[in-house]
Amino acid sequence: MIVRDKFYIGGEWVTPEGADTLQVDNASTEEIIGTVPAGMEADVERAVAAAAAAFETWGMTTASERQAYLKKLHTAMEQRQDELGEVMSQELGMPLALAKPIQAGLPLQSVSNFIKILDTYEFEDHIGNSDIIKEPVGVVACITPWNYPLHQIMAKVCPALAAGCTVIVKPSEVAPLTAFMLAEMVEEAGFPAGVVNVITGLGPVVGEALAKHPKVDMISFTGSTRAGKRVAELAADTVKRVVVELGGKSASVILDDAELADAVRGTVNDCYFNSGQTCAAHTRMLVPESKYEEAAKKAVEVARSLNIGKADDANAKLGPVISKTQQERVRSYIKKGVEEGAELLCGGPEQPDDLPEGYFIKPTVFGKVTQDMTIAREEIFGPVLSILTYKDEEDAIRIANDTVYGLSNGVWSSNPDHAKKVARRLRSGNVIINGGAFNMMAPFGGYKQSGNGREHGPYALDDYLETKALQM
Ligand code: NAD
Repeated sequence: MIVRDKFYIGGEWVTPEGADTLQVDNASTEEIIGTVPAGMEADVERAVAAAAAAFETWGMTTASERQAYLKKLHTAMEQRQDELGEVMSQELGMPLALAKPIQAGLPLQSVSNFIKILDTYEFEDHIGNSDIIKEPVGVVACITPWNYPLHQIMAKVCPALAAGCTVIVKPSEVAPLTAFMLAEMVEEAGFPAGVVNVITGLGPVVGEALAKHPKVDMISFTGSTRAGKRVAELAADTVKRVVVELGGKSASVILDDAELADAVRGTVNDCYFNSGQTCAAHTRMLVPESKYEEAAKKAVEVARSLNIGKADDANAKLGPVISKTQQERVRSYIKKGVEEGAELLCGGPEQPDDLPEGYFIKPTVFGKVTQDMTIAREEIFGPVLSILTYKDEEDAIRIANDTVYGLSNGVWSSNPDHAKKVARRLRSGNVIINGGAFNMMAPFGGYKQSGNGREHGPYALDDYLETKALQM
């Protein structure tokens, strides 16, 4: 049992104002594995005051000074990578063999990327008679979701610190444990007091207090579109910078000239990765009408081949979803799909027979899905794939773009130029061509209601900087 009863504020472990706590459970067993404090507005006040005070000096440091701190943080994190992976694997249910390289590995990659970026990033420019200076925005509140708990935190903390901002981290209340470990590693790395602060609590309490706070200069939010809109509304009153990374309903467009079996396998694996709890998951598979039967057969074959199991089961490829709430939500979407007339090809809403406990969802494939169905329009956030058919390429592009979201899409074709031509017409911040690998130096973010920022790599740094012109 991991009991966290202090917040990390101003370089110290401080007692929260209130006594309420939030429980954290193991997604594979449903057992309670930890508790964290449920913060209140007064805790937010303290954290903001500490971050604002620290900004006075941290904001004036040089890039190489900040780089030196990030290097120390990297060393501290590397030493605890296995432990980080274990904790997140329990909270989230991701099989341990995947959680270590992904849930713990990606955050480390973020730190090393920003160490590199600081070698070459130009904080100054000259235009005519002007010096253009990029300066840190100030105090940044980082509000993050549970699906990649530490990765989402570090996608904000690294560029913010590299830019010279100070931060208040408010992790998801569902998977908050590694945020406390981060605070310990920040302490070990010797960051000045108040540069990084960590508090936990519910979104409508702690998250909203941060969004409204006049001394918070920027909100960097990742989570649902619903909560992102609320944060933007509250932040508008103080005209603070709001960068949001929100939901998705991405399409995988399998073109007529694609290697069908590879494309279907790639799409199913992408859709189910992290039990379907990935904002950029390719959840709508678009296939030519003439290839529907073959694609559906292959998708079911791939779905049935994936071992589901508890996070500590070495044979498991797919764990549970994070919580009872999420399990119920996904089940209700599966029931809705059946009610609205989609063809349930495999999976379904029932608990798997051999896994009576844990928040498991059977890998589910729906065929004959149409664009008007709820399962084709709303983000499900579980291992549920919808197969839709298209008449011709124009129709495929139209269907792919017919969504309020615009985070990611996929294109499959045996001709890369053909794939790129279609990719340019898809309205999303990312397009994955023939299953191309995730590049942590490339910008990641959404069009439309998927958000407005760009995380990872040098483009992410821009979000945390103000631009000043000195006219000579
Ligand atoms: P969520 O919106 O419920 O919570 C995200 C964070 O926001 C949590 O820390 C939560 O406490 C806080 N929050 C909730 N309500 C709030 C409010 N009224 N004011 C301020 N803060 C509030 O999302 P979740 O369920 O944790 O995560 C899943 C969602 O995140 C999915 O929609 C997914 O697509 C999205 N997501 C997007 C990206 C991306 O980069 N675009 C990445 C990962 C997840």
